[in-house]
Amino acid sequence: MTIAALIVAAGRGTRAASANSQPKQYTSIGGKPMLAHSIANLSAHSKISTITVVIHPDDHAPYSNAITSAATDKLTAPVVGGTTRQASVLSGLEAISKSHPGTAHVLIHDAARPFVPHDVVDGVISALDVNEGALPALPLADTLKRTDLDGLITETLPRANLWRAQTPQGFRFAPILTAHREASKHTDKEFTDDAAIAEWAGMNVAISDGSRDNEKITTSEDLSLAKLTTTAEPAFETRIGTGFDVHKFAAGSSVWLCGIEIPHEQRLDGHSDADVGLHALTDAILGAIGDGDIGQHFPPSNPKWKGAASHLFLRDAAQRVTDRQGRIINADITLLCEAPKIGPHREVMQAAVAEILSIEIARIGIKATTTEGLGFTGRREGIAAMASASVLLPVEMTPTHSRNR
Ligand code: MG
Repeated sequence: MTIAALIVAAGRGTRAASANSQPKQYTSIGGKPMLAHSIANLSAHSKISTITVVIHPDDHAPYSNAITSAATDKLTAPVVGGTTRQASVLSGLEAISKSHPGTAHVLIHDAARPFVPHDVVDGVISALDVNEGALPALPLADTLKRTDLDGLITETLPRANLWRAQTPQGFRFAPILTAHREASKHTDKEFTDDAAIAEWAGMNVAISDGSRDNEKITTSEDLSLAKLTTTAEPAFETRIGTGFDVHKFAAGSSVWLCGIEIPHEQRLDGHSDADVGLHALTDAILGAIGDGDIGQHFPPSNPKWKGAASHLFLRDAAQRVTDRQGRIINADITLLCEAPKIGPHREVMQAAVAEILSIEIARIGIKATTTEGLGFTGRREGIAAMASASVLLPVEMTPTHSRNR
């Protein structure tokens, strides 16, 4: 059975969008346009097979931008809406009847309810088994008062059997299309939602369970609240960076490797303490966040870094991640050398790196290999290190996104 979703996003929504120029359905919440959340939440429902969005004729550009962060193959081409919500829904229904003639049910949803829960959609679809229409609703909690023209209460209305209607409103496709076509001929009638049209056409429409998470974002206050509640979980993306470093041996009695000093018959030569492992990892983290490399931030030409402890470089890279509201997921270092033996020091190295990065030890990998006597490491001329790091960054902090603002 084909169930189509129709998202109405053609309104101008000026009540919530007064602070900026774009309609509220394109306003960013937690790093994604509101419409992208609505699309993603409906798309995540396995029973919904197609999603069509009705947009305003001026909104092709913000729509294209919105769907880049709502990747789904369920989306059909957008439909340009009419001058009223009702006309927009009819345009959408006509488009679905042409593109997907076998559609059994349609769920008509407001773009301004971006966080529609999975079970609310479930409830509407189940109710359509026995009803021609169904809508999620919440019982009215507030007492209703009627006033006169002076603002004085004339009546307290009983609130039993009164409900606050939400969307998606689900209907069997053929009768709701017919009802909308008929309703469009009665311009004297005012219908505030699709269920009102269904009722007017004599369809039976049932109530299913609504949700507080499914409230409509109407005012700028609602928008601020939605942003606030989603701030704890902004949209993150995973970044990966790699690093590589080499230092040669010189006369000495110990080497610094991965944050610890190990007795050895030679030392590693370099401007700083020459901790080749930490240098490679510093570059990996800088690479993951696209912020240059260790030589750029700590130039060897600067005497300030002469003999410097390399944990300073690594901690600086970690701070750059924190400054972007990101976090390091894991780091992995491979040392290439014939000697010293790394195995006996591995756990202490892991602990040292974990402490510098302020992450758990289990997120740090330290490995070593010889190069079978081959090459400069095989000839014991120096030590090479490779590293990779993965970082979670808020999507909003990425340059492509900020270009669109
Ligand atoms: Mg180096």
